[in-house]
Amino acid sequence: MSYQPPLEQFEFCQYQPELAYFDSAASCQVPQSVLTKLLDYYQHQHANVHRASYARGRAATQCYEQARRDCAQAIGATAAQVSFQASTTSALNGLAQQLPVAWQAGDEILLSSAEHHANILPWQRLAAQHDLRLRFISLDRASGELGEWQHLLGPRTKVVSLTLASNITGTRFALEPILAAAQQQGAWTIVDAAQAVAHEQLAVTQLGADAVVFSAHKAYGVAGCAVLWLSQALLAASEPFTVGGGIVTGVTKSHANLVTGIHKFEAGTPNVGAAVAAASGLAWLQQQQQLGLHDYLQALRQQLWQQLQQRAWLTLLPTGKQHTPVIAFYSDEFQAHDIATWLDQHQIAVRAGHHCAQILLQDWQLPAVVRVSLAAYNTPAQIERLVAALDAGWQLFAD
Ligand code: PMP
Repeated sequence: MSYQPPLEQFEFCQYQPELAYFDSAASCQVPQSVLTKLLDYYQHQHANVHRASYARGRAATQCYEQARRDCAQAIGATAAQVSFQASTTSALNGLAQQLPVAWQAGDEILLSSAEHHANILPWQRLAAQHDLRLRFISLDRASGELGEWQHLLGPRTKVVSLTLASNITGTRFALEPILAAAQQQGAWTIVDAAQAVAHEQLAVTQLGADAVVFSAHKAYGVAGCAVLWLSQALLAASEPFTVGGGIVTGVTKSHANLVTGIHKFEAGTPNVGAAVAAASGLAWLQQQQQLGLHDYLQALRQQLWQQLQQRAWLTLLPTGKQHTPVIAFYSDEFQAHDIATWLDQHQIAVRAGHHCAQILLQDWQLPAVVRVSLAAYNTPAQIERLVAALDAGWQLFAD
């Protein structure tokens, strides 16, 4: 049976049926069942978690720990290696500052030109602190795939931190050989899965990484929660990202003894509601994948790709052999922001700009691109509307 986009499960599809939302790579809209779970948590279980001596506090703790187990199961992991963080950005900052490396000037960190700023700035800060060298695997302009990397990996490489999929081109990179080689060199390996999580069944233990992270708001959950998986080795060796309440076994005026398990990465009051929603969003996503979401979105993407390709005034950015349902393009005739503003007037939401990945656009000498990203609530009719609106703009404004 072919996939039916579950429009009735999204409130915005009911009260704003004319809105074509094509910005899910930034944030997905949230299914009603996830919102219901979130509300139910706040109405019926909410309290501060852990160490509660009353029933409602225990219920909240139970919700939180169940969310951890559910998220772990959704990515092929055990709960003891999954922590909740505020965002992919905060997790990458925490990792950068707390990786157990005895830094020496000249040590190297390997990234790619496709990284989101969230996976660049924390390393730039660290590099400035210890006089380190950042190296970048370039992105091939023709194929959209990662270029040569072997010569960039050596004994000075202490960290390899790469995105699994580009938030601009949608290419899903074949990271596994790079990560395997990096681990052989003794480097810590980190995967930013923020753009991949909604489009593939993550099996974190099989990637060959020491850390895998994604934000729940990109997988039908809500903002304020990221899932961070850590290898046993990194979990044991890393210091907590932040310190404070909830992660100690004892504190004196001069010293604190910290817990040793995954909870050491969760100082302070956690965002329990967002964690509950993260688990619910991933479960919802898994259900949709079983109904055929992946193939549906790839077909939709193909429809859009073919249509855009026929417009000579648009240039599509290359996308690799494997890709998420994300397409970016630009025009020599119109600025990206003008295209997005025009589409907005037609109730079509796309994103224009550098998409927090300025290195890639600099490498390719592009000031800005328009990005269309697809999710479960998009339809073939919306793709037709998008293309028709682009054509109408072209006819009206082109010389
Ligand atoms: N990495 C990638 C690849 C992303 O697309 C994003 C979000 N645009 C992030 C990191 C940052 O995620 P967050 O804003 O949730 O921290």
